[in-house]
Amino acid sequence: MTTADPIRLGIFGWPVEHSRSPQMHLAAAKALGLHLTYERFAVRAEELAQEVDHKRREGFRGFNVTLPHKEAMIDLLDEVDSRALAIGAVNTVIHEAGTLIGHNTDATGLTRALSEAGVALNEARVVILGAGGAARAAAVGLADAGAASIHLLARRAEQARALCGSVSTHVMCDVEAGALDEAKGPLSHASLLVQATSATLEGNPDADAFAEAIPIDKMPNDAAVIDLVYAPRQTTVLKKAKAHGLKTVDGLGMLLHQGAIAFEYWTGRPAPLDVMRYALEAAD
Ligand code: NDP
Repeated sequence: MTTADPIRLGIFGWPVEHSRSPQMHLAAAKALGLHLTYERFAVRAEELAQEVDHKRREGFRGFNVTLPHKEAMIDLLDEVDSRALAIGAVNTVIHEAGTLIGHNTDATGLTRALSEAGVALNEARVVILGAGGAARAAAVGLADAGAASIHLLARRAEQARALCGSVSTHVMCDVEAGALDEAKGPLSHASLLVQATSATLEGNPDADAFAEAIPIDKMPNDAAVIDLVYAPRQTTVLKKAKAHGLKTVDGLGMLLHQGAIAFEYWTGRPAPLDVMRYALEAAD
């Protein structure tokens, strides 16, 4: 690579057209005067191994990974850090002289977004809705940040229990699992609700009914609610929480911070957070 060669980056997903990562990283590079490219790669599961190998041979500096490849990526890399292993998913890959190293920046992205919004994490009593990759990252990140208890609730209770079983070997807090309709008890003494399902995504006809079924009114008055979904930013769950006077945090902050950490890994430069935030908001 010569000094004129760009830092080549991208994101693997299927679908991937909706990703806002290119706007965020290209804006950051422009602000810092870095020669950087960031492309979307729509890759099917069966093509993933081959595509990863191509990027290694083409000299890519790294890439992000989104649905549905975050779990499968682990087996395609040379090294995976302990946090990504605990979460069971990689969202950021760095290429160092032929070696591909996997990280997961979602967990720290979430805890930074919550701290930035003034939500106390130490001794937090957390309820997480969902049992997919985002719920997993949230459980590990919040346990590491000092949560006192974590309740995982999913529409398929067995899925929540399986997730609970795997994260409780890595996290030091009291992790319990149950079905979504068991939310009333845990929510009545929760300090933080993390909505980590895809139920509140734009265009989902069930989004209103999903929010309606969550007994947010049972939460203490000083509790906070974050929805990891960022399209729309004001989800049905956040609207309901706001109507009950609770503090609300949208998913854009997590998206920003997971991207900022990845940017710093790849470029070695402090991420220009304001520029990146502006780019994400402009893509809204
Ligand atoms: P997954 O597909 O891995 O998991 C989705 C979870 O949502 C599953 O547990 C699924 O249950 C559950 N679910 C879907 N629809 C419903 C419903 N109607 N009622 C109850 N549960 C439901 O996705 P991820 O965990 O990776 O992501 C979840 C959401 O978080 C995504 O929409 C994504 O946009 C957001 N996210 C945001 C990030 C950010 O930076 N802000 C980062 C990562 C994710 P089941 O298995 O039964 O279908």
